[in-house]
Amino acid sequence: MLKIYNSMTQQKEVFTPIHPGKVNIYVCGPTVYDFAHVGNGRTYAAFDVVIRYLRWRGYDVTYARNITDIDDKIINRANENKEDFQVVVERYTNAIHEDFDALGLLAPNHEPRATEYVPHIITMIETLIKNAHAYVAENGDVYYDVRKFKPYGELAHRDIDKLESGARVEVNIVKRDPLDFVLWKLAKPGEPHWSSPWGEGRPGWHIECSAMSNHLLGDHFDIHGGGKDLIFPHHENEIAQSEAATCKKFVNIWMHSGYLQIEKEKMSKSLGNFFTIRDVLKQYPAEVVRYFMISGHYRSPVQYSENAFELARSALSRFYNALKDLPDADALPNTTYEKQFIEAMDDDFNTPIAISILFELSHEIQRSRESNPKLAAEQAALLRKLGNVLGILQDESNKFLKAGTEHLDIAKIESLIAARNQARTDKNWAEADRIRAELAAMSVVLEDASGNTTWKYQN
Ligand code: AMP
Ligand code: ZN
Repeated sequence: MLKIYNSMTQQKEVFTPIHPGKVNIYVCGPTVYDFAHVGNGRTYAAFDVVIRYLRWRGYDVTYARNITDIDDKIINRANENKEDFQVVVERYTNAIHEDFDALGLLAPNHEPRATEYVPHIITMIETLIKNAHAYVAENGDVYYDVRKFKPYGELAHRDIDKLESGARVEVNIVKRDPLDFVLWKLAKPGEPHWSSPWGEGRPGWHIECSAMSNHLLGDHFDIHGGGKDLIFPHHENEIAQSEAATCKKFVNIWMHSGYLQIEKEKMSKSLGNFFTIRDVLKQYPAEVVRYFMISGHYRSPVQYSENAFELARSALSRFYNALKDLPDADALPNTTYEKQFIEAMDDDFNTPIAISILFELSHEIQRSRESNPKLAAEQAALLRKLGNVLGILQDESNKFLKAGTEHLDIAKIESLIAARNQARTDKNWAEADRIRAELAAMSVVLEDASGNTTWKYQN
C-alpha cells in the first residue's frame, strides 16, 4: 500500500489514484535562462524516482513537466546578451535536456512551453475575470484577486492576514491587495508580446502551470510537485487560479522536495552559491551525481560537499564490486529483499531504506559468489532490477569501476601484476613490493584475494 506525504494535509496518505491504475502527475519545470544547477537537478531526480517507482508498481503514469520559456529573468538575460529571447530559450532548453539525460532522468510524456499555451492561458484568465476572481488594474495589467478565494493560504498553512503582513511591501498602487499577483502583464516597448483582450503582453508565471496542467491532465489530477520553495506563492497561486476557474478540486496530493544546501544554505542562482550540473559532471561520473541526489529522502535537505560525492562513488563501487564478473541470469524471484524494498518505497519513497536493503543484497551476493555462483548471478540480476527502479546500477561493472582509468596502460598494468605474481611465487618479496609500489605510483591499488589479484584505480 503506497503512502505519500501530502504537503496539503501534512501527513502521509494512502495513495488512491483518481482513475484506477492511472496516475497523472505534473511537476513544475525549469525556467530556461541559464544552466540548471545541482539543486534543480535534485528536485527532478527525486521526481524521476517517483515516476520510475509508480511505473514499476504497474501504474500507467502520465508525467507532465513544463518549460517556462518566457519571464523576466529570460528577458533580462536576452537584453544582457543582446540576443533574442528565443535564442536564450533554445540554448538553455537544449543544455538542460543534455544534463537531464546524463543524469538518467526519464523524459516527461508532455513538456509544454508557456509560449505555446497563450490561447489556453487567455481563456483561463477570461474565465477568472468573468467570475470575479480577477480584475484589470488601472495600468492595464490583469491581477488575481486573492481576497476572493477563501481557501487561500491552505497549502502554505498560513492565515491570509499573516501572509499579507509578510508580503513584500512593493511600490505597486494598482493592486487591491499586496498578495494579488499578475495574470497578464502588458509589454514594455521592445519586450516580447502576444495579443490578448487586454492588449499586447505576456502571461504571468503562475497562470501557465494552471493552464497547461488543465489542458494536459484535466481539471482534477493526482499529484503535483516541485521543490518546497514553490509551495508559496507559486503552488498556492496555482490552486487559487485552477479552483476558481473550474470550481473543482485541483490536485489530490502535493509533493515537495527538500533543498540541496551548501554550507546549510539553499543552493540558488540568486545567492550565487551554485554549481551547475554540467560542471559537476565534468568532475564525477553521472551515476555518482545521481546517486548523491537520490540517496537521501526526497523531503530531507541534502548537503553538497566533495565528501558527499566521494561517499556516493564508494557506495556505487561496493555495488558494482558485488555485480562484477557474474553472468546474466533471471532475477531471483519472491525474495525478502524485494519485499522490503517495496515496503521502503511504499513508505513515501524512502530511498535511504531501499538503498540499505540493496546493500544487504550485495553482501549476500559476495557471500554466495564462491559457494553458489548460480545463486549469486540471480541475486545480482535482482540487484540490477531493483537498482533500475532508482535509475542506478545499469552500467557494466568494469566500466564503472575503471571509470577515469582510460589514460592507464592496462596491458602494462597486467604485465606488472603477472611479474609480481611470479616474484611472489619465487619468494622474491623485495621485487614483489617494488612492483606494488610502482603500480601505486600510477594510483593502481592491488587486492589479493583467494589466490587472485585484482586491481582498482584510486585517485
Ligand atoms: P527554477 O528553474 O528556479 O524554477 O527551479 C526549478 C526547480 O528546482 C523547482 O522545482 C525548484 O523548487 C527546484 N529547486 C531550486 N533550487 C533548489 C535547491 N537548492 N534544492 C532543491 N530544489 C531546488
Ligand atoms: Zn508551476
